[in-house]
Amino acid sequence: MQGLGLHCERCGSRMRIRTSRRLHPHYSRFYLECSHSACDYRCRGDFTVQTVNDSANSENRTTG
Ligand SMILES: [Zn+2]
Repeated sequence: MQGLGLHCERCGSRMRIRTSRRLHPHYSRFYLECSHSACDYRCRGDFTVQTVNDSANSENRTTG
């Protein structure tokens, strides 16, 4: 995965992922940087996952 489809707010170039940290099975933090070498804009983004078919899996859940 090369990027998240995000663009730099300064120059409009594509952002690429420098690194990511998984803080939780459904919660990751991405550190992004602008792909334009002269721009060097960096930012951070949080990615969360929410279950959408909870009823189908409710029998297997052990924790809330
Ligand atoms: Zn940029």
